[in-house]
Amino acid sequence: MKSYEKLLAENKTWAANKTKQDPDFFNRLVNVQTPEFLWIGCSDSRVPPNEITQTEPGEIFIHRNIANMVVHTDLNMLSVLEYAVNVLKVKHVIVCGHYGCGGVKAAMTRKSIGLINKWLRNIKDVYRFHRDEVDSLLTEDERTNRLIELNVQEQVTNLAKTSIIQKAWKERQAPHLHGWVYDLHDGVIKNIFEMEAGARMDELYEFDNL
Ligand code: ZN
Repeated sequence: MKSYEKLLAENKTWAANKTKQDPDFFNRLVNVQTPEFLWIGCSDSRVPPNEITQTEPGEIFIHRNIANMVVHTDLNMLSVLEYAVNVLKVKHVIVCGHYGCGGVKAAMTRKSIGLINKWLRNIKDVYRFHRDEVDSLLTEDERTNRLIELNVQEQVTNLAKTSIIQKAWKERQAPHLHGWVYDLHDGVIKNIFEMEAGARMDELYEFDNL
């Protein structure tokens, strides 16, 4: 059996098992999704959101990209965010990074690796803002992992800077924003940073006409 054929075969087994355990499972999900969470995570194959949180289909709306970035010109991310916040009315938005992230590691080097340079430049900016703190750490792993935490914090703040989030905060006092980092060594998620609805930031970023 070819590798991709195994995926299709496993899918058939999974669907049959689900129906066996819970005959109404697919019927419930077929017409409606009411997830409480939007997850913005890294594309890394070792950080599967549903598996590491033991959640089921229908529970988390998911967007993934390299190094879990919230880039204000990314129409894909913005479309997901707007739909999740305004239509699905999620209560929580989680940015989840992970220690050992290859995207963050690459951004800390001076190597050009093509198109992705433009994406990683956003992480280099985070590094520049926190250069003294990161460079004061002794080992490369410590420096990388601290930048991974700071990057998650920065991406949560980037969410708060959008009119999508600020308008929802004003209208329905939600969603609550969370910055988490997953540890590949033990599978445990660490809570790094959060912003509750209405949290303040530099007023330069706070729209006064929403
Ligand atoms: Zn990653």
